[in-house]
This record gives sequence, C-alpha cells and structure tokens, in this order.
Amino acid sequence: MSIFLYNSLSKQKEEFKPIKKKQVGLYTCGPTVYNHPHIGNLMAYVVWDVLKRILIARGYKVKHIMNITDVGHLTSDADEGEDKLAKASRETGQNAWQIAEFFIKVFRNNLASLNIDEPTKFLRATETIKEQIAFARILDEKGYLYKTADGMYFDTSKIADYGKLANLSKVELQEGARVEKNQEKKNLTDFAVWKFTPEDISRDMDWESPWGLGFPGWHLECSVMSRLELGDTFDIHTGGIDHLTVHHPNEMAQSEAVTGKLQANYWLHNDFIKFEGGKMAKSQGTLITLENIREKGFSPLAFRFLILQNHYRNSLNFSFDSLQAAQNGLKAIIREIAFYGKPKGGCQELEEEFYQAIGDDLNTPKGLAILQKIIDSENKPGAKMASILNIDEVLGLRLGTLAKNALDISSDAKIILEERAKARDSQDWVRSDKLRDKLIALGVEVQDTTDGQKAIQVTL
Ligand SMILES: [Zn+2]
Repeated sequence: MSIFLYNSLSKQKEEFKPIKKKQVGLYTCGPTVYNHPHIGNLMAYVVWDVLKRILIARGYKVKHIMNITDVGHLTSDADEGEDKLAKASRETGQNAWQIAEFFIKVFRNNLASLNIDEPTKFLRATETIKEQIAFARILDEKGYLYKTADGMYFDTSKIADYGKLANLSKVELQEGARVEKNQEKKNLTDFAVWKFTPEDISRDMDWESPWGLGFPGWHLECSVMSRLELGDTFDIHTGGIDHLTVHHPNEMAQSEAVTGKLQANYWLHNDFIKFEGGKMAKSQGTLITLENIREKGFSPLAFRFLILQNHYRNSLNFSFDSLQAAQNGLKAIIREIAFYGKPKGGCQELEEEFYQAIGDDLNTPKGLAILQKIIDSENKPGAKMASILNIDEVLGLRLGTLAKNALDISSDAKIILEERAKARDSQDWVRSDKLRDKLIALGVEVQDTTDGQKAIQVTL
C-alpha cells in the first residue's frame, strides 16, 4: 500500500507518510493567466493529476489547492520587468480583469480536454489580497522586509538555509535567473513581497496597503493560500523544476519566517518538454498549445498518453511524430479492448503490480506496460476489462468511454455495412472489398468473423 515519492528537499525517494491518517494536503503552483497555456505547462498538470489519482486509489482523501496568478507575476521571475497581465492588457487593449477571466476559462477547458480533475479549490491571487497584506505585515513586524524605491523586499540573508531546496549557493541561484541587478537589493536573492504602483502609471489592478498603493509579489500568494487552506505545514507541494531556484525557495522562506515551520514535507518537481530536442521558445514558434495539437488532427488524450509514456522527472522530447505514434498506440489499445464486453471479476495480481508501479514515484511508463500486459494476458475479456477500468481511474485516459464509443458506428457506415453483408451473402467479393475501402475512408475497420462482420470506429 506504500507510496514512494522523490522529494526535492531530501534529494531522494522517500516513503510517503501523511500528516493526518488517510488525508493528504496537496498544493500545486498554478498558471499565470495572461495567454494560452503551452503543452509544457499542461504536462505538469497531467503529472499532478496522476499523483492525485494514485493517492485516491490508495485510499487517501485529497484536498488539492491550486493558485491562479492573475496579478503580480512579472516578465522576469526575479521581480524585474512588467506585470504579465498588465503587459497583455497593454498589447491587446483589454482590461487586465477581462484577460484573467478569459484565460481562466481557457485553462479550465484545457484541463477538461486532458481529463484532468480540477483541484478541490482554485484560488485567484486577487481573491486573497487582504490575507496577503496581513501575511506581509507579519513579515514586516518580524523584521524580514525592507523598503526600496519599487517595493518591499524580503531579506533572504535572514533565513539561514535559504535555497536548501535547490542545494545551490545564493550566487548560483541568482545566476540562474540572469537578470539585471536591482542596485537597492541587499542580497542578490532578495525578492519583492509588495510592489509599488509607479506614480506615472495607472494599473487596472492595485490595492492600498500599509506600504502604499501597489500589488503583491508573485511568491506571496502561494505562501498565503497554502496556509489558509492546508495549514502551516501540509503534505505535498508540486511544481515545475524551474521553481526549484526562485519561486519555491521564496515561498518557503516567507512561510518559514511567519510560522517557524517547514511549509510542506514533500516537494515534487516535474521536468520540461523539449521540442524536437531543443528548448521550447516563443521566438522559435515552438510554444505549442492544445489548440495547435487539435488543429493538426490530434486528440488531447493522445497527448496525455504521450506524457504518461515518459517519467515525469525526465524531460519529454516532443515532436508531432511522437504524438502521432502515441495516438496510434492509444487507438490500438481501444481496438483491442472494444470487444471485451462487460467488466467481470478482474486480474488482481496485475492490477496490484500497476498500483505499485505508479506508487513508485509515479512510474507511468511501467504502468502503461502493465496495461499492455493485461491486454496480452490469458485472462477472460471481462476480467481484463474490469482491471482496465480500475487502473484507468489512475491513468485517466477515458478508456471505458473510448471503447464504448468505438462500437457506436455512424449511421452512414451502418448502411454500408448492411450492403456489404448482402454482397458477402451473395459471394460478391469484389463489391465486398470495395465497400470495405469505403468504410476505411470513414474510419471504420471491419473484421469478418464466423458471427459475421465486426465493425469498429475508433475516435479519440
Ligand atoms: Zn507557487
């Protein structure tokens, strides 16, 4: 029943031990809602969806919180540049609030397309301003903050083991961000907790605070929301590996400064997607969205399947060829299982093997291999189907629905099938083959069995 997770904090795989029996507090750093998420962003949410699903499959109740950054995330993660939403607002002429609304919808639609269960609660940064100011006041009262011309900064030299997550020196941490140095910062790694609205600029989003008109720094919301919903210390905190060097050390520093406790016990980080071996970059036009994938005739579920073929701590080398292979692979599975019929019994040992694989630091490639093992096994079709439906609660590929839909032949195809049955009865093989070609053109595959034609139309 054990689950093992690689903890970035201890730099090793550990047996997961929750704070409360059978309950897990899970926090995932969510999107900044100023444009369409790209497939690299989306991969992370698929990975953490599998994490949540295996916890649930192992009998835990999961409270999952995700923030939505709708203010304060600057174009550089190190507090330089422009607020991403303000920038989008300037470029599109839309109000920052409208932009946030629009891209929250896009994000949630993307999650639904990828069959990702929504968190127990989404919290928008702008919904918790009061709490963020109260939290920053504690930091200020405890002497962690100092004032510069553009905001209130956190003095990271006051946290003895700042950066313990990345295991890097402070200089190395900052070199990673490669930004112009703010001359007023006491330490390279110091970060803004509250930014002032510049006097010559009118912003759609700013608030009064004890330090003046402004808006919260990007890291503040996660410290505040996680504490608000999950307590001072919770179980699992997840995010991308880019967060190892700036965002998560800063979150941790703020939380520890206020509570004197570790913010979370397990810190999990997913690696990134590479596009044909290189870094995905806007300038190269390789920031692919789910919409781009759909336009090219791929199903989001094929993309989910591709993600599962890779272990989350390795980078995923994306290409449209690999996506095509994944789509073919998923279709082949559906073709196999569509005729299994009603679930009955199960293949207990293989199922358990599957849960152990996923429970071993989310080994989804092995999980998929076990799915194939179930298909290839000598078990009865009903037993295979039962196990496949069970393990798909974790994989989230909608295998049951896809298998059912595959038998739901379109009415056009049904007419051709009837004609073909007649042609075969009268032994008109030429016509039968012609009609088969017609069916293939419609995406319908037909097998001739002793019980007559068996047709299947696999759509993802
Ligand atoms: Zn965060």
